[in-house]
Amino acid sequence: MERPDKESRDISECPSDSAEAGKASVCEGCPGQAYCQSQGGVDPDQEGIDLRMGAIKHKILVLSGKGGVGKSTVATLLAEALASRSQKVGVIDLDICGPSVPKLLGVEGKPIVNSQYGWKPLVSPHYNIKVISVGSLLASDTNSVVFRGPRKSGLIKRFIKDTYWGRLDFLICDTPPGTSDEHLTVIKALKNVKPDGAVIVTTPQAVALSTIRKEINFCKKMGVRVLGLVGNMENYICPCCGESSELFPSEGLDNLAAEFNIPIIGRLPLDQEVMKCCEMGGNVIGDLQTSPIVVKVLNMAEDIRTMVDNL
Ligand code: SF4
Repeated sequence: MERPDKESRDISECPSDSAEAGKASVCEGCPGQAYCQSQGGVDPDQEGIDLRMGAIKHKILVLSGKGGVGKSTVATLLAEALASRSQKVGVIDLDICGPSVPKLLGVEGKPIVNSQYGWKPLVSPHYNIKVISVGSLLASDTNSVVFRGPRKSGLIKRFIKDTYWGRLDFLICDTPPGTSDEHLTVIKALKNVKPDGAVIVTTPQAVALSTIRKEINFCKKMGVRVLGLVGNMENYICPCCGESSELFPSEGLDNLAAEFNIPIIGRLPLDQEVMKCCEMGGNVIGDLQTSPIVVKVLNMAEDIRTMVDNL
């Protein structure tokens, strides 16, 4: 039988939680096919996942259509903003191949340790945010992770099920760009406890905006509500005079938001001070309180909190 081209497979059709797991036409050529067939559509981890995730009030995914739009920065700023308002927050770095959350939250180089209750998440010096990332499991930050589908999915499920998160108000899931195994795994793993929704980050240039439609359609197919769009690096703030210059035309994001009837919940500038602070693993929300980004992110976090509290 001719196998479907890997690129043409629509992973949102994955029937992993049904009797069709490993047998459907979309499964042909999937690296997890043998495992799915052997499990018969029953996930032995589901009960553990439901138990851990049931203790967390709100689960939010942060997505982007392409890399380089500052998604991890937005995810960690959002986490800091919520935590600065007395919320208990955790962050899962689902970017298995390019983890950057440990650096951004100031826990780079610290190892994750095992306890009788499971993996203990690292605790960030930024408002005690709990963090788990493959970056903290590697012996060196120059080591690379060469996992294929099933191993990646297995690790993500361990992050969710085998990590002792305890009770949290928010769990922010920083996903890799695009729509791939990582997204599918986390959404399916959370199927019984339902994520509150997704925040989609983009920059205003056309090449980034064109990928956002795919993200929105993926969320629709998977039944995940899109809470809002964030336009990152919309303008540049001069470090000398503070003047703001537009880097790309911003109407594209407005048009997209109107087309899909999704709110724009944040428009963030490019700010050298913030970039420097992130590079050094600093606490942007705590250390740069007068920065226009901080004000905007705090407002965005408040809007998201109101939105999910009223769901
Ligand atoms: S993970 Fe792959 S093999 Fe398993 S059900 Fe989904 S598409 Fe099929």
